[in-house]
Amino acid sequence: MIHRRLGRSGLKVSALSFGAWVTFGNQIGDSVARELMHTAYDAGVNFFDNAEGYAAGKAELVMGDILKKSGWARSSYIVSSKVFWGGQRPNETGLCRKHVIEACHAARARLQVDYLDLYFCHRPDPETPIEETCRAMHDLIFQGHVLYWGTSEWTAAQLAEAYAVCDRLGLHGPVMEQPQYNLFNRFNVEKNLAPHCETRGLGTTIWSPLASGLLTGKYNDGVPAGSRLEIPGLEWLRDRLTGPAVGPQVAAVKALAAIARELGTTLPRLGVAWCLKNPHVSTVILGASRASQLTENLGALDVLPLLTPEIMAKIDTISRPVAS
Ligand code: NDP
Repeated sequence: MIHRRLGRSGLKVSALSFGAWVTFGNQIGDSVARELMHTAYDAGVNFFDNAEGYAAGKAELVMGDILKKSGWARSSYIVSSKVFWGGQRPNETGLCRKHVIEACHAARARLQVDYLDLYFCHRPDPETPIEETCRAMHDLIFQGHVLYWGTSEWTAAQLAEAYAVCDRLGLHGPVMEQPQYNLFNRFNVEKNLAPHCETRGLGTTIWSPLASGLLTGKYNDGVPAGSRLEIPGLEWLRDRLTGPAVGPQVAAVKALAAIARELGTTLPRLGVAWCLKNPHVSTVILGASRASQLTENLGALDVLPLLTPEIMAKIDTISRPVAS
């Protein structure tokens, strides 16, 4: 495993990390979740990503139980939660002070940890002043319940406002942002967030490196049984990743697979390694529903040295026209 600093902070995060979305408390049983966490940890992964909204809190319960029973030193891993999608009542969602603080304590209880290493605003909340959220996050850090706070899918302008508020009031500011980043979703990281990475030292913990499986080639000929796109409630994702509209991306996937073969590797490893080539990426959060997938994807580190400027240019030629 290699480690990178989380942006300009001193925190060292494994370049590959592991997340619980869709899988924990939902698609997979608890024993598979345990096998996945142990596979990741044994490979040197030190960051486990979660959110209050994942399986309505069940993903954190499952992860907390695994962490508790693991015997791993608390200093050996980083665990996150994200606040935004809590319950149904008015103050159980969004980023008002009440929900930010209550959700932190609820996540700590589910994860069975004294503090969250990373705590993200899962989305921007247009109904709450950014200053209110910044103050709540600062207070949680000041009280020792959270070590670093950040955002997910915030615009560059929203981040700039948070920086301005925190600078003006002397508050702990956002350290990291969690955007989607993969060969087909590039420009938010490469264009919008890059200036904050350069000037403010923003770190990124990027999600869906394989575009929910599209970049493994598994959807080239329809949806295979047992895959994510069959899960009730994820019809919106199925619509997005299948059908005629993704035809050009499927063609690109086939061309990328040929490059992977040329390099003697696999498409998932190529896709993950490509994300890591971006120096603004602090960690790539992997997702997996079985240990064989995770083991394969962890092998992406071996592919990094193969991604020469010539190969990166070839990949660019294929992916750029079908990327957003
Ligand atoms: P990916 O894009 O890598 O998708 C992972 C899924 O792709 C797996 O669950 C599996 O699905 C399939 N897959 C993975 N590897 C392989 C392989 N080698 N061969 C075949 N299929 C494979 O990542 P995720 O979308 O899961 O995102 C990773 C993490 O990022 C999440 O767990 C979460 O922590 C975070 N995230 C954050 C978001 C945010 O808004 N901040 C949003 C989404 C994710 P299948 O079961 O179909 O086989």
